[in-house]
Amino acid sequence: MSPEPETSLTGARGLEPLGIEIPAGVPTHWYNLAADLPSPMPPHLHPGTKEPLGPADLAPLFPMALIMQEVATDRYLEIPQVVREIYAKWRPSPLIRAARLERELGTPARIYYKYEGVSPAGSHKPNTAIAQAYYNAVEGITKLTTETGAGQWGASLSMACALLGMECEVWQVRASYDAKPYRKLQMQTYGATCHPSPSTLTEAGRAMLANDPDTTGSLGMAISEAVEAAAKDPKAHYSLGSVLNHVLLHQTVIGQEALAQLAAAGEEQADVVFGCAGGGSNLGGLSFPFIGQNLREGTTTRVVACEPAACPSLTQGEYRYDFGDVAGLTPLLKMHTLGKDFVPPPIHAGGLRYHGMAPMVSHVVELGLMSAIAVEQDHAFEAGVVFARAEGIIPAPESTHAVAGAIDYARRVTTPEVIVIGLSGNGILDLPAYEAYV
Ligand SMILES: *Cc1c(COP(=O)(O)O)cnc(C)c1O
Repeated sequence: MSPEPETSLTGARGLEPLGIEIPAGVPTHWYNLAADLPSPMPPHLHPGTKEPLGPADLAPLFPMALIMQEVATDRYLEIPQVVREIYAKWRPSPLIRAARLERELGTPARIYYKYEGVSPAGSHKPNTAIAQAYYNAVEGITKLTTETGAGQWGASLSMACALLGMECEVWQVRASYDAKPYRKLQMQTYGATCHPSPSTLTEAGRAMLANDPDTTGSLGMAISEAVEAAAKDPKAHYSLGSVLNHVLLHQTVIGQEALAQLAAAGEEQADVVFGCAGGGSNLGGLSFPFIGQNLREGTTTRVVACEPAACPSLTQGEYRYDFGDVAGLTPLLKMHTLGKDFVPPPIHAGGLRYHGMAPMVSHVVELGLMSAIAVEQDHAFEAGVVFARAEGIIPAPESTHAVAGAIDYARRVTTPEVIVIGLSGNGILDLPAYEAYV
């Protein structure tokens, strides 16, 4: 390491606040549901000893600030000013009344959607990408490695690295790499490098290719490659776009804003919140502030996780310790899992193709604080088209699962319930996935 990495980075790389005006609606803190849970989170375990992880175990991969957030039990954690300044480029994201959709469905419900597609990358993922890149840069790390499915996460981290002056290397699941060239171009435009996974660049990738040369890849395989690459490079850290506690923590800006926006719209509370669930980050980010309010203040908002029927970790998986990746390099996480070797069919919603579910979401489901449904792909796209024609926004294929859950519910209700949909992203770069339905 060079003698003064932090000081030479500071300022030159945008790690000092610029002093710009930040709208009042941008949260000042992230909300940590762990503070309000009736029973504590099961710890992550060391893959070798099976003992609870200590901070030193994670230090080769993550900066200390994120390691501490992973186990934090404080209710609120302050958002660094530089991160808030970047959030302010698109936050607070809008909470929009879906009045035309309501009319189309003939429902008495009042439907709102919290739209994360207004971020520069087109999804909720920059909320954590910016925070992760920031904490790594502050600790002198100059490069981040990661995996990506559909490419939303790779694009978001590439953008964050560009803004904070870091290098970024991405392993993209082969099925998506081949089917979705625009996200790769987006990453390259931000200055990142993108490889199809499994690749011949890592030991893990070579082993997977030897085992099955025609594999379409999976997030679990791509994680193994990105983790290995980071572990071998002292200047590099690994960054995960979902699943871990600190990722869900960063996403709670979504739900905190939504609570304030609902109140400003004159609503007493949301009756039901629908979010799509891949690794659980947009769902956790939207719903945890609502669940926290239920636990502290006695509101009765229900939360429904909408996962793809082709990768049904919450509705069909076992709740047990499992690895986050195929090679078994990650810590053991207590979660709903289909097994680390599960290779999901190449469904269009690439961002939902993960064998496990965030430990915090899994725990919350076990405690009965959230329920889950599985949505068939055709049904999800059908709902996406209904939504697009009523509201004008084409939802990301992932988000259509939440839209489908909400539309089915709204068609059944007979009273003016308040429904909130997590619209995690837009589908503008995923239009080929809609082709079969239009
Ligand atoms: C990645 C992604 C998802 C799935 O990830 P979660 O961690 O479950 O949120 C959902 N929606 C969009 C738009 C995505 O890009």
